[in-house]
This record gives sequence, structure tokens and C-alpha cells, in this order.
Amino acid sequence: MSLRFYDTRARQVREFTPLHEGCASLYLCGATVQAPPHIGHIRSGVNFDVLRRWMSYRGYSVTLCRNVTDIDDKILRVAADQGVQWWAVSDRNQRAFTAAYDALGCLPPTVEPRATGHVPEMIALMRRLIDRGHAYAAEDGSGDVYFDVMSYPEYGALSGQRVDHMLGAGDTDSESAKRDPRDFALWKGAKPGEPSWETPWGSGRPGWHLECSAMSTKYLGSAFDVHGGGLDLVFPHHENELAQSRAAGDGFARYWMHNGLLITGGEKMSKSLGNSLLISEMVRRVRPVELRYYLAQAHYRSVLDYSEEALGEAAAAYQRVEGFLTRAAELVGPVEPAARVPDAFASALDDDLGTAQALAVVHGHVREGNGALGEGRKERAAELAAELRAMLGVLGLDPASGQWAAGDGQGLRDVVDALVSVALEQRQAARQRKDYAAADAIRDRLAEAGVAVEDTPQGPRWELRRG
Ligand SMILES: [Zn+2]
Repeated sequence: MSLRFYDTRARQVREFTPLHEGCASLYLCGATVQAPPHIGHIRSGVNFDVLRRWMSYRGYSVTLCRNVTDIDDKILRVAADQGVQWWAVSDRNQRAFTAAYDALGCLPPTVEPRATGHVPEMIALMRRLIDRGHAYAAEDGSGDVYFDVMSYPEYGALSGQRVDHMLGAGDTDSESAKRDPRDFALWKGAKPGEPSWETPWGSGRPGWHLECSAMSTKYLGSAFDVHGGGLDLVFPHHENELAQSRAAGDGFARYWMHNGLLITGGEKMSKSLGNSLLISEMVRRVRPVELRYYLAQAHYRSVLDYSEEALGEAAAAYQRVEGFLTRAAELVGPVEPAARVPDAFASALDDDLGTAQALAVVHGHVREGNGALGEGRKERAAELAAELRAMLGVLGLDPASGQWAAGDGQGLRDVVDALVSVALEQRQAARQRKDYAAADAIRDRLAEAGVAVEDTPQGPRWELRRG
């Protein structure tokens, strides 16, 4: 079976055939860096990281371009509020985003261009659009440059809207300079005190839509395979990117993939919840790998309604997987990942990245593996553990991979292991002299410290529980 995805523009699942055999080019709209990331910002990073890893597993050489919008109205507002330079705001928050992507195990993009580093490419694109009669400079001297929506009959094709049903773009202070209220700004004329760059039509700064068209085609070519982003970007952002690039004569994206949004309590994330859902705060409550598991388990196109309970359940599910792998390693020694993932797992991911079905295969392996361990069938347990590691590796969730194992601090774990062993020996001694109160007290003290003890036929074993 081949890889297939839901294409927003075609409104159906389409087989993936790359532009260049053996290669896949992906553009993902990245962060507008006006604030540090919360969990809603990072979902698309994780979803598209799973896509990228699966494409690599399927043999494609993947080029991922994820941009950074380092100038826009919100960044300028934050800078003014805080009395700092706009570039200090965008740099600080870009670092926070990078740290969050890294913490959640997202592989770094092949290239991560910033908008302000690509003004010459944007000027060239505006020149092509003006020459072809699809854009014009505002006649009021504001320095704005607009896209002429009525000059491009396919406008609305991506979001499935008719132009005569659309409202005005409302994206500038000089709306009266537009030929049509639905025309959108490619470039925003300079305002006093704001940063600006020179163009043949006056000085100003990049519009959000223009920068993505300029950067995607610079790094991936005039046509490329997949354009991704959150569902909230379909209109106007992606509609406008598509219109600009096609009107300029570029083939542009061949597939459009959008991840569903993350909501809380049935609503779009509110500011009051914002701080507790910053990635930097969340990784204090759960381990980053558990947060990744939570984000990856739901289908990328589904709406994810965040709650602490759901996150806790995801963490517990992941700990069951880890628990089996730990017990298997104790019994049969270290197990390397299998070379191939099971067919059922592969067909689930081939089918529009069905991570929920793929994880059902993972948990099936865990259940069968626990049974095999209980019955002492070591070979079968080892086989299942190896396949499990292969599947988890593709999802970026293998607990024994360098990233997560190193994150746990193996050296420190050895020290804790030695200390817990001393406590467990004393508990064993207390039990032997039938001092059950003392034995239970030791177990309770360990639990308070986050060490969960389980009695097994092979003797007591322990693991760290957080949160
Ligand atoms: Zn974009």
C-alpha cells in the first residue's frame, strides 16, 4: 500500500506521489514569535514531525522547511509594551520555540528561514505580480502593496469559498487605497517609529502571506510537495499564499495538509489558561516524552480538547509501554529495534497518518508482551519488544533512544537505583522479622519520594512516578 493523505484543496484523501522520485519536500508554517509557545502552538510541530519520520521510514529523502515570522504587528506591540527592540522579542521567543521543539523530540528542520532575512526575494515576487497585473502599489503613497483578488479567478479554491461571499481583508489602515476591499496586503508601508526596508514602491515591512510564498519557493523550488500548518491558517493565510504564488506563475504546493486545533474545555485556548499550558511549565508536570505521546496519539486532523485528565491518561498509557520494555530488558537483556515495523502499524500510518490505530498496534504488543513475560516465554517477549522499539522509534517515542534515555540522566538513575535497593533490602528484612508496619512505612516513604514499588515473582522492582 502507498502513502496517502487528506488534501485540503482536493477535499479528499489522495495518494502521495512526489514531484521528484525518492524525495519529499515539506513546508510548514512555523511560529510567529511574539510569545513563548504553549501546547496549542506545538501540536503542528509534533504532527508534522511524525509525518516527516514516517516519510523517512518509507524511504523518502525529506527536506523540511519551517519558517519563523520574526516581524509582525503583534511582535511590534509586545516590543512597545516592554520597551525593548522588536528583534529582542523575536529572538528571545524563537529560542523558546526551538527549546520546546527540541524538548518534545521534533527533529530540527532542514532549514529554518526568518522573514526579515528574505526581503529581496519578497521584492522579486511582488515585481513579478505587478508585471503580470496581479498586484499594485497603493496610490495614496502609504507604501502598501496589494494583491488584486479580482485579477485571479481561482481565489477561494483552497478554503472552498466564493469571492462574492467574502468580507474585506481589513488588514491595513489605508483600506480606501484598495481597488477592492478583499484585496490583501503583500507589503505594509512604513509607519513612524516602525522598522522598515526599502522597496521600489516605498519603504515598509513584509506582509505575513508574502513571506511564506517567498521562503517556501526559495528553499523548495517553484513547485514542491506538501504545505502544512494548523487548520486556522487555511484562510486567509494559505489561500493568499496560494493565490500569490500561482498568479506569479509558480506551481507551488501539490498537497495541503492541516492539523486540527487544540482547544480547552470546548473552547479555543483562553489567555487565563495560557501560562499553565506553556511548554516550559508543562514539562515540569509531565515528562516531555509523555507530552509528545499525548499530542501524537490523536489523529492530526482531529480537534484535541485538552484536559489534565486526558494528559494524565496519556502519560499512564506511555508508562505501560515503558514498563513492559523495562521488564523485558530485565528478563531477556537489551533488545535492539526490529528492522521493520509490523504491517498493521505501517498500514495505519500510510492511511492519512492514522496514529491512533498505529498506537492500538503498539498497545496490542504491550499486552501480548506482558503475557509472554508472565509465562516466561522469553523469545516471544524479546521479539515483541524489538518490534515495539521499531514502532516507537518511527513515532519519536522510543524510551531507549538516545534522546529520551539521555534526558532521564542514566548516571543519576544508577545512583537512585543503588539507594532504592538499600531501602528495599531493609523492607525485605522487616518483612522477614514480621514487622509489617516497618515494611509498609518504608514502602510509603519511597512512594512519597516518587518511587513506586511492585512485588513480582522475581522480587521487588521499582520505577519513578512523576506528577
Ligand atoms: Zn505561512
